Amino acid sequence: MADTTTNEAKISIKVFVDKVKKRVVYAEADHSFVDILFSLMTLPLGTIVKMLGKHADTKFEALGSLNNLYQSLKDIPESYFATEECKFMLLNPRSLSYDHCKNLKLKIDRTKPVKYFICESCRSKGYRTSCYYSICNKAICKICGGLMNTPHSFDSSICVGDGGVFVSDIGNFIVTDDFYVMPYSVAGIFRLLTDLGINDTSHLEEIKLDMDSEQVRSANLNKLNTSKLNITCVCI
Ligand SMILES: [Zn+2]
Repeated sequence: MADTTTNEAKISIKVFVDKVKKRVVYAEADHSFVDILFSLMTLPLGTIVKMLGKHADTKFEALGSLNNLYQSLKDIPESYFATEECKFMLLNPRSLSYDHCKNLKLKIDRTKPVKYFICESCRSKGYRTSCYYSICNKAICKICGGLMNTPHSFDSSICVGDGGVFVSDIGNFIVTDDFYVMPYSVAGIFRLLTDLGINDTSHLEEIKLDMDSEQVRSANLNKLNTSKLNITCVCI
């Protein structure tokens, strides 16, 4: 359930911890949290590497060699690219789902909104600007060879339902320690506990967490880089 009454919105989830084995077993969350988890699927790989590279934990290694690939992209002079635009686009990939993700309760992708640029010369001659645009102000116009650096806006409004952004708000969800998401059901919980070899539910402790955007972001980044969701170290 998202709290939007404070300056920093928070999402509440219930985490069930195995007190004996000291590990997170599963979390119960509403559509707001699951929307954020599923939004990870919309992130371009370059954005993920960039986000992981900025993680405060110095032990964090951003997806191994992909970190080197991203760094080499930054280091190679623009003259080695086909166009100046290419380097900019590769370093600043844009999610095609940005207009959906801007409706999330908490933002984990801090990529700025896409800006569009057109060729002023061609616009003044009456060419259809919707056919010729760039997301970078360094692109060369294919028609006249001029610089496409005039800001232009497109109507990119997305219709979002009354419930969540990606999932419906008809019920809660169960999120396992390794990020498997399923609709909430008692049968599902028992099946999960059985699979984990947990027969005594008295070992489980329920902890309510109110997570802000930084905590959700950190938990998601941890998940992208490790085999387990270390949500307890983030929030307890
Ligand atoms: Zn032009």
